[in-house]
Amino acid sequence: MPTSDSAPPFSFELHTRLRDSPSLPEERVRENGGQFQARTGTITTPHGEIRTPAFIPVATQAAMKAVLPESMAAEGAQAMLANAYHLFLQPGDDVLDEAGGLGTFMNWPGPTFTDSGGFQVMSLGSGLGKVIDMSTVANPLGDTQMAPGQKRMARVDDDGVWFRSYLNGDLHRFTPEVSMRVQHNIGADIMFAFDELTTLHNTREYQEIALERTRKWALRCVAEHRRLTEQRAHKPYQALFGVIQGAQYEDLRRQACRDLSEMGFDGFGIGGALEKSQLGTIVRWCTEELPENTPKHLLGISEPDDIFTAIDNGVDTFDCVSPTRVARSSAVYSPTGRFNLTNIRFKRDFTPISDTCPCYTCTHYTRAYLRHLFKSKERNAATLASIHNERFVLDLVAGARAAMEAGDYFEYRDEFLGTYYGTFQPSV
Ligand SMILES: [Zn+2]
Repeated sequence: MPTSDSAPPFSFELHTRLRDSPSLPEERVRENGGQFQARTGTITTPHGEIRTPAFIPVATQAAMKAVLPESMAAEGAQAMLANAYHLFLQPGDDVLDEAGGLGTFMNWPGPTFTDSGGFQVMSLGSGLGKVIDMSTVANPLGDTQMAPGQKRMARVDDDGVWFRSYLNGDLHRFTPEVSMRVQHNIGADIMFAFDELTTLHNTREYQEIALERTRKWALRCVAEHRRLTEQRAHKPYQALFGVIQGAQYEDLRRQACRDLSEMGFDGFGIGGALEKSQLGTIVRWCTEELPENTPKHLLGISEPDDIFTAIDNGVDTFDCVSPTRVARSSAVYSPTGRFNLTNIRFKRDFTPISDTCPCYTCTHYTRAYLRHLFKSKERNAATLASIHNERFVLDLVAGARAAMEAGDYFEYRDEFLGTYYGTFQPSV
């Protein structure tokens, strides 16, 4: 929704579409219902470009856990994603505005994203303690029942949400307008509309109510975003992405896509409860339905197979906390799968985590030393393991992008996943 006549401050350029590849094998096309949506492109923001598909590391509180932003730049990270709700509570979005915006505040010169706080509506409210993603739900808890031992921290109504601060118990009101004001103050290049994220526990009836609420909130976000963009015309342009909900229901997802496509969003986030086995199918409903020339972000995924599923089905950017989360518990990725550095077999192993990894950790430190750091509870352990894991995922996605441009995406994907999960048989 840029208003300036000069070069657009935000744009998305499509480069290669996988389905146009002349070498696309027939059986591959059939395998995904003939609907591969994968593509490469470039998102241009006031703080630089993002070549897609791209993995966006998470810096929830304007900090990556245990890793400096300059380290992430050196490892090839293109952008960072922070959380509006957390920064609203601490230090306060007005502080970030005064500092010159999120990137300046945290010494990250590249593009930034903020998510809207919608996730907290669910995770602190009806979804507290429930299984919220990537898992099957054998015994749903329903719309109002809480997970055992949990106290509700948020309550949603048609106008917005009451939150209780997890820091000091203070009560706060979030509405679509408040979310937009907070995100404009934080100043990320890409923001998300305020939405209600449901869980796999919710009934179909509740999903319909939540989706209609999210549609109305999206309209209010767009109106407030336009007002703030004009009022703050001296600030760099901030793009607004609409968030597609609708859980596992095809008709709800497609309807949400059609509704939000009309509203003038710069791009879209695909959110909500996604069972791992349904991930590709649900993403594809959305990418088929949404305008092709808009960037699509998948909010919060985890494992390498999910990343390829997202890329296969047309996701351009995605965030994921797993690389640093598992690193802090001493688990590291390698081409042949994930392993734990505290294992006794690494006590005298003076090789890097991975021989082929060019990251700072692998070019300077051994498994034996990293094991020692974890065993002696030194904080550098988390830093070094996180750097490696982030690089692993960044390289995985950069490799997918390069392979798509070179026309050998399927060879790359199959070899990567086969080696990682131990099922790869080299063809002779
Ligand atoms: Zn490494």
